[in-house]
Amino acid sequence: MEDIARSHSGDYDLPMQELQVGTKKLVSMNPATGEVLREIDCAGESEIDAAVSRARMAQRAWADFGLRRRISIVREFQRKLYERKAEIAEAITREAGKPVAESLVTEVLVVLDAARFLIDNAWGLLRDEPVPHGNLVTKLKSGWLVREPHGVIGIISPWNYPFSIPATETLAALVAGNAVVLKPSELTPLVAMELANLLHAAGVPQDVFQVVTGEGPAGAALVRSPIDKLVFTGSVTTGKRIAAAAAERLLPVVLELGGKDPMLVLGDADVDVASSAAVWGAFVNAGQACLSVERCYVHRSLYEKFGKTCAEKTKKLRVGNGMDPHTDVGPMIQERQVRIVEAHVEDAKTRGARVLTGGRRLLELGANFYAPTVLADVTQDMRIMREETFGPVLPVMACADDDEAVRLANDSEYGLAASIWTRDKERGRRLAGKIHAGTVMVNDVVSCFGISEAPHGGVKASGVGQTHGRFGLDEMVRVKYLDMDRVPGMKKVWWHGYGESFRRQMEGFLDMQFARGMGARMRGALRAAGVLRRKQL
Ligand code: NAD
Repeated sequence: MEDIARSHSGDYDLPMQELQVGTKKLVSMNPATGEVLREIDCAGESEIDAAVSRARMAQRAWADFGLRRRISIVREFQRKLYERKAEIAEAITREAGKPVAESLVTEVLVVLDAARFLIDNAWGLLRDEPVPHGNLVTKLKSGWLVREPHGVIGIISPWNYPFSIPATETLAALVAGNAVVLKPSELTPLVAMELANLLHAAGVPQDVFQVVTGEGPAGAALVRSPIDKLVFTGSVTTGKRIAAAAAERLLPVVLELGGKDPMLVLGDADVDVASSAAVWGAFVNAGQACLSVERCYVHRSLYEKFGKTCAEKTKKLRVGNGMDPHTDVGPMIQERQVRIVEAHVEDAKTRGARVLTGGRRLLELGANFYAPTVLADVTQDMRIMREETFGPVLPVMACADDDEAVRLANDSEYGLAASIWTRDKERGRRLAGKIHAGTVMVNDVVSCFGISEAPHGGVKASGVGQTHGRFGLDEMVRVKYLDMDRVPGMKKVWWHGYGESFRRQMEGFLDMQFARGMGARMRGALRAAGVLRRKQL
C-alpha cells in the first residue's frame, strides 16, 4: 500500500488532463475582478465511470491499509495544510471571492480542526464495538458492531465553501476506508484541485481520491455511476433531482441542502451583541452561507433600536476585493446570484419594506457586488422571508412575543439552523426545543459549522442525513452486525423438537426474565432449567 501511495503522489494536473478529453470547458473566474483564472475541460460520462472504476480498484487496498495508518495520513494532510494555510486561503479568495480572513477561519481552520477531530476520535468511533446481549436466551453468543466502508463515495459540492465542505466530507470518507470521487462546483474547480494536491502529497493514493470537473450533467453522471453512496451539498432543487435519481437504484444519499435560517431576538436580548451577530451572520461570505441569518424576528420592544443599530453597523462595513485584508464583505459569486438578491429586495420594497441601508448594486466595484442591505417592516409573505436569498440582505420583522417568534421561525419549508438571542439561558434552551431545525444556537450564529464535534444537517427541505462529528462519520460506514457463538458445539435451545414440556420450559424462561416479583421469577427459573437439558433434532 505504501508503494501505491508513493507511486501516485505528485501533481494533480496530470490525471485531470487524462480525464477531460475534448469536451466542454469550464472557465474559472475571480468574482471580484472578472479575471479568467484558468480554463478546464469538463469530464464526460465515460471518464466519470472510468474514475469510479479506478476508485473501486484502489479502495480495497486502501481499506486493508488499516485505520491507524489512514489516521496517520490525515495527520500528514493536516501538517501540510497548516504549512500552506496562507497560500490555500488566497486560492480560495481568488476563486470564491470571500475576504481572505474568512478563507482562513471558515475554510482552512475548519478543515484543520476536522482533521484534528478525526485524529483524536476516528479510532474510538470506527473500531469494532462489542454488543452485550441482555436477552438471557442469547447470552451464550457474543455480538460485535463492525464498521465497514461503503466502497466508493461520490461527493458533489457547491461553490460557497469550496474547500471546507468537500474537505471535511472527504476526510471522514477516507479515514473510514472509502475511496472518493469528488465533483466540485463548476465555479470553483481550482480549489478542489488544491485539495487533491494536499491529499495526494499527504499519501492518499491518486485513485483513492479523484476530482472530476464539470457542470450539473457531470454531477448527474456521477449519481448514475456505480458509486456506493453519495454525499451531496447544494440547492433544494438539485437535491430533489438527485434524490429521485438515487431512489431508482436505492443509492444511499446524504443531502445537505438550503436554508432560510431565522434569528429570534427575544425581549431581554442585548441589542448591541445581537445586532453585531445579525450583521456578521447575514453578511459573512456576502450572505452566501447555508447557515446565514436570512430572516430576523425581533421583539417589538427592541425592534426600532435593533434595526437602527444593525443599519449603523452595516454602513461601516468595507466592501471590496477579498484579497484586500481590510475587506469585510466581498463580491457575490456571479451575476446570476446578484439578480436573485435584486429580485427579492425589489419584491420587498414594492410590498412596503423600508430600506434602512443598501438596497442596490455596487457597480462601481464590479458586476458582482451588492451593498449589504438591512430591510425593516418586512412581512412573512414576502419572497425575502420565504425563499433562500443567499445574498447580503438582513430583513428584520417585529414580533409580539416568544410564541409568535417560534411560530414565524417554524413557518418555513426549510429547517437547517436557527438562533435565539436572550440573556436567560434556560429560556433559550426551552425555546430551542420548539424550533424545527437541525441546529439551534443560543446566543450565536453560523459558527456551528466550525465545531467539528457537532453534527451538521437539516430537517424538512434542508436535507437528509448529517456530516461532521461522529454522526458524519457514521454516514461513511455500513454497520455489519457480527454474531459469534461462544459454545460452537452446542445446539440452540430454540431449534426444532418442540413439544408440551418445551413450551412450559420456555414460559418459565419468559417468567424468569419478565415476570413481576422475585418469587415468580425464581419459579420461572426452575421451570426453565429443563431447557438446558433439552434434546433437539
Ligand atoms: P447547486 O444545487 O446549483 O449545485 C451544487 C452542485 O450540484 C454543483 O456541483 C453542481 O454542478 C451540481 N449539480 C447541479 N445539477 C446537478 C444534477 N442534476 N445532478 C447532480 N449534480 C448537479 O447549488 P450551488 O448553487 O452550487 O450552492 C448553493 C446552494 O447550496 C444553496 O442552496 C445553499 O444553501 C446550499 N448549501 C447547503 C449547505 C449545507 O450544508 N446544508 C452548505 C452549502 C451550501
